[in-house]
Amino acid sequence: MADDSVSKDVRKASASGAPKKKSALSELFAPVAGFGVSFSTMFRKVATEEYPEKPRPTAPRFHGRHQLNRHPDGLEKCVGCELCAWACPADAILVEGADNDDTPGGAGRFSPGERYGRVYQINYLRCIFCGLCIEACPTRALTMTNFYELADNDRGKLIFTKDQLLAPLQEGMLPPPFPMADGMEERDYYQGKVTAATDSQRTYVDARDASEDAEAHAAAHDSDASGNVGAALPGEHDVVHATHPTAAATREGANP
Ligand code: SF4
Ligand code: SF4
Repeated sequence: MADDSVSKDVRKASASGAPKKKSALSELFAPVAGFGVSFSTMFRKVATEEYPEKPRPTAPRFHGRHQLNRHPDGLEKCVGCELCAWACPADAILVEGADNDDTPGGAGRFSPGERYGRVYQINYLRCIFCGLCIEACPTRALTMTNFYELADNDRGKLIFTKDQLLAPLQEGMLPPPFPMADGMEERDYYQGKVTAATDSQRTYVDARDASEDAEAHAAAHDSDASGNVGAALPGEHDVVHATHPTAAATREGANP
C-alpha cells in the first residue's frame, strides 16, 4: 500500500510538468560547464599514435604477414605437402608441390627430401590471420611475421607469391637449387646437423651461376645477330611488386 501511494505522488509530480529549481551556483557556472570536459581531458595521458611516422610495436606473437623459412644452408623448409592449404578456413593458400631433381640436367633441388613447394601463394584479400596454417605446417616452413601494412588499391598485389614470401638469404646461405650438404639426409636438416652451406655446395652454386650467365650472353648475342635487338633478357619483364617491402625488410621480429 505504501508503495502505491509513493508511485501516485511521483505520477502527480511528473504530470504537473513543473520545472526543477536550479541552485544559484549551478546557474552561475552553467555557461562554462561544457569546458569542464575539455579541461579534464587536457591532463589525461595522450593516446594518439603518430602512425605511420612512428608505428606502434606489435605484441611479440602478433599474427602478421607470412614467411616461408629456410634451412641454415639456404634450402627451403617447405616440402610442398599442402597441409597449410587444407587447414586454411578461408581458402587463401595455393600450393603446388614438385619433385626435387638432382640428376644432371634436372630442375635441381630446392629443399631436403623428396619434394618442394614449386608454386606458393597467399591471398591476403581472403586471409583472416587465424594462424591455423602455421599450426598445420609439419616442417615449421611457414611462420607469421609482425608486419601488418597489407593494404593496397590493386587487388592483384594482395596475392603474394613465393618470391615475396620466402625469407631472405642470411649469412652462410646460398640461393637454391643445389644439392644437400655432403653426407646429410633430410632428417639431419631437422635435427640441426646442418649449420651453414658447405664448400662443395658453394662450388656447385658458383658453377651453376657461371653456366647461366654464359647461356644468357649467348642468347643475347644470337638475338643481336638476328637483328632482334628488342628481345628481352631473362627476368627483364618479371613483375615486381614495388609497393610491398621485401621479405628482407620484414624479417625482423619474425615468430620462430
Ligand atoms: S592465417 Fe588463417 S586465413 Fe590466413 S592463410 Fe593462414 S589459415 Fe588461412
Ligand atoms: S608451408 Fe608447410 S604445410 Fe604448407 S606446403 Fe609447405 S611444408 Fe606443407
